[in-house]
Amino acid sequence: MTAPGKLRVAVIGAGAAGLCAAQHLAARPESFAPPVVFEASGRVGGIWVYTEETGQGPDGLPVGSSMYRDLRTNLPKEVMAFPDFPFDPSLPSFLHHSHVLAYLERYADHFGVREHIRFWWRVDAVSPAEGAEGGWDVTACQAQDRTVQTTERFDAVLVCSGHYADPFVPPIPGLETFPGQLLHSHDYRCPEPFAGRTVVLLGAGPSGVDLALQLAPVARRVVLSHRQPPLPGLPGNVLQAAPAVGVAGATVQFGDGAEHRADVLILCTGYRYRFPFLAPARLGLRLTEQTVTPLYRHLLPPRHPGLFFIGLCQQICPFPHFHCQLLFCLAVLAGTCRLPPAAELQAAAEGELRQHLGAPRHFHRLGGRQWGYCQELARLGGFQPPPPVLRKIYEAVRASRSRDASRYRSLNYRVLSAEEWELVGAEPGG
Ligand code: FAD
Repeated sequence: MTAPGKLRVAVIGAGAAGLCAAQHLAARPESFAPPVVFEASGRVGGIWVYTEETGQGPDGLPVGSSMYRDLRTNLPKEVMAFPDFPFDPSLPSFLHHSHVLAYLERYADHFGVREHIRFWWRVDAVSPAEGAEGGWDVTACQAQDRTVQTTERFDAVLVCSGHYADPFVPPIPGLETFPGQLLHSHDYRCPEPFAGRTVVLLGAGPSGVDLALQLAPVARRVVLSHRQPPLPGLPGNVLQAAPAVGVAGATVQFGDGAEHRADVLILCTGYRYRFPFLAPARLGLRLTEQTVTPLYRHLLPPRHPGLFFIGLCQQICPFPHFHCQLLFCLAVLAGTCRLPPAAELQAAAEGELRQHLGAPRHFHRLGGRQWGYCQELARLGGFQPPPPVLRKIYEAVRASRSRDASRYRSLNYRVLSAEEWELVGAEPGG
């Protein structure tokens, strides 16, 4: 039984976002009953749990996480950390993925979060409860044998299920007839199997560039296809090409008229949003592969403000961003931040969409908008926004990466104050 007046909140997922949610819910016993975290796997950490297995499971879903063996973070630990839990200061700025997992495990232990997690429970359905009392019915099943299923009522649901599990495959004519090895970066683990081969990588986001750097020393040739200006600092055997427009036999055709024969084609084309446990139309939402709209501040459906999507946004500092989103959501749930009525929320959410200047599919890519976004949540929720030094380091790293993608990780950053930082070590080449 929940004590009267205390809200019972379900959290879906025990990755970084879910752990942060559980921590803050558990820290406010005056407003919230102990949280219930459903985690489909047997561990905390989500995407940071590296597994060698690849391919599809019996349910047709991709298995394993999208980590690769030698992944190092693309953000320094100085901007990755949750504001209330620093990384070990003796570590370098750019971490191997195992250090991030260890950090999240320490976070879970430090804040006593594990006791709230139901491991091996997969949420199958979340729907608004019938009747005047409101709330949400959450149906979950035992993830290993799927024989046991339960449905429980909650006052609110925090969706922390991540969005790097379901590969996005672009519609490129002829792709399905490619006779060589075709895979998504989700299934890339290490460079050795590609020794001596010609590898074409489609997409130059963080994964595409990383794979080019990892494959260059072993592959015969690497072709990195992308739509950005030429990237400086890539090894000599990495050619850069325009976006791919077609595949004919083993030949990949590019938008600038170039063609390259490939032994291996790796799609570094990102991921799709996927919420198999929700009926979006019933919630007044439109779900595409790259957007969930309309959401008030990328967070909640205007007509159902008891459901929150944590961490939908991209091109952000994820952990500090989750922290801000969660403190805002908890302020809303606890009643210290009052939301306008549904019609106003709807108008605000539609207005945010209209004002977005970039491609509609990039609506959740915040980039430079993340700082104003977090400040606004902090103002409304009554908590401290991230300090200015976070933005300064984030922008310095971006500039350093765009100058030299292969060496930006050799730098170390040190935070001096809420405003100031310094480099520890020399700027590469300078
Ligand atoms: P996830 O880590 O994906 O966790 C989601 C959890 O939900 C999982 O444990 C999953 O099992 C569970 N789950 C899903 N569906 C259900 C269900 N129906 N029922 C129950 N449980 C469910 N960020 C950085 O800050 N720095 C980096 O350097 C960085 N590098 C990255 C590199 C790669 C290749 C990728 C893909 C991402 C990277 N990120 C990085 C972003 C990273 O995804 C976020 O930092 C963050 O870890 C995401 O956490 P999450 O909790 O939102 O999702």
